[in-house]
Amino acid sequence: MSSLPVGTLSPKFRALQEAMTKFVNEECIRAEPIFEQQLGRGEGRWKREPPVVNELRAKARALGLWNLFLPKSLYPGGHDLTNYEYGLLCEIMGRSVLGPLATNCNAPDTGNMEVLAKYGTAEQKRRWLEPLLDARIRSAFAMTEPAVASSDATNIRTSIRRDGDEQGGEVVVINGDKWWISNAGNPECKVFLVFGVSDLDNSDPHRRHTVVIVPADTPGVEVKRPMTVYGYDDAPYGHCEVSFVDVRVPVSNIVLGEGRGFEVIQGRLGPGRIHHCMRAVGMAERALELMVERVQRREVFGRKLVEQGVVQDNVARSRLDIESARMMVVHAALKMDAVGTKQAMKEISMAKAQVPKLALRVVDRAIQMFGAAGVSQDTPLAAIWAGLRTLRLADGPDEVHMRQIARLEIQEQKHKARL
Ligand SMILES: Cc1cc2nc3c(=O)[nH]c(=O)nc-3n(C[C@H](O)[C@H](O)[C@H](O)COP(=O)(O)OP(=O)(O)OC[C@H]3O[C@@H](n4cnc5c(N)ncnc54)[C@H](O)[C@@H]3O)c2cc1C
Repeated sequence: MSSLPVGTLSPKFRALQEAMTKFVNEECIRAEPIFEQQLGRGEGRWKREPPVVNELRAKARALGLWNLFLPKSLYPGGHDLTNYEYGLLCEIMGRSVLGPLATNCNAPDTGNMEVLAKYGTAEQKRRWLEPLLDARIRSAFAMTEPAVASSDATNIRTSIRRDGDEQGGEVVVINGDKWWISNAGNPECKVFLVFGVSDLDNSDPHRRHTVVIVPADTPGVEVKRPMTVYGYDDAPYGHCEVSFVDVRVPVSNIVLGEGRGFEVIQGRLGPGRIHHCMRAVGMAERALELMVERVQRREVFGRKLVEQGVVQDNVARSRLDIESARMMVVHAALKMDAVGTKQAMKEISMAKAQVPKLALRVVDRAIQMFGAAGVSQDTPLAAIWAGLRTLRLADGPDEVHMRQIARLEIQEQKHKARL
């Protein structure tokens, strides 16, 4: 659990924090080898989610550790946690790859649920949000394209155009290729939120794009292949290449309105911006625990590893990195709670640019302390490292966050100089 002073946290929240800690440490971490064993090998890995995940979901629900990402202000039945509080819970969930999945707090479903809760029509909520909140179905968000630099979303070229249907009504037709679409390999993935261009000639580049709900079984949707992350394919969820060829869906599947895709993706990121960071802190904590446990057991040249000065230095540096990382995310969360997400953009970008790098350093040291076992399948470290490394791209490349920090810093300095 976080080393932060608990003074500012309510007893009710602390009980939740304790329940989450117990659940992740005793249930999720214990279930990790069971997940791998049930997943098995070969093509069968894409056919079903290992049953242990649903068993964990049932336990998390019974403990009240369910849909904690969703604020009451967005949806009745949501929770009233602050960004700070939910961030602390994300840190705990991040300790196990199964933590977010078990509690229905995993990306990309959380972002998609937030979009539907915020902008969905009553029918869109009934058909997609409710089963997602219940984990009866899963979802994907399809924005990135192989053909264009997708960290600048104005580049996205998948076309969304209106057409007539046989009954004289109107549909939208979607054509384009996407890749890195997380969850698309999941047999339970029943819906895509597709970001495409609907009005290329609009003079405002931020009014050209639209988000459309596409049921996964619509003719023309093809999941082509899973991409690998340093060799990991993340089955059964995957990050897949998906093509959309003359995919026709009703106009009523548009989210928020035509040309409002940028508003939707901004809203989708919302407070979710810092959750990956806080989970990264949890991953680093787990790596440090594994490191400390290991160096106390292993002997080199007649002494325990833990007695070597260089090893102690690694432990100390790792503790420093974790605390620095945690403080950056907590600072961003507290600012979001105090003045709102928009006013906390610099702090959010700072956390995003820095935290994955700090966490990676900790995991890398832990790998080193484990020797060859550290890069193998026998510890979770190699997979944790690969997952963390993707954050420096998947959550927006570092450079995009650095650009934002510089822009806001210069703006602030100019403002100060004028006062
Ligand atoms: C594991 C994983 C899961 C993902 N899941 C999803 C998903 O579910 N849905 C989805 O749509 N996408 C997903 N993505 C894709 C991810 O969002 C994109 O990879 C990311 O937005 C970057 O886009 P790109 O790969 O096209 O890189 P590009 O835009 O081509 O950028 C390449 C590089 O250019 C540099 N660069 C970019 N902008 C700047 C700048 N302003 N200044 C200087 N340098 C710059 C950076 O070094 C960057 O890494 C996922 C990616 C990964 C790795």
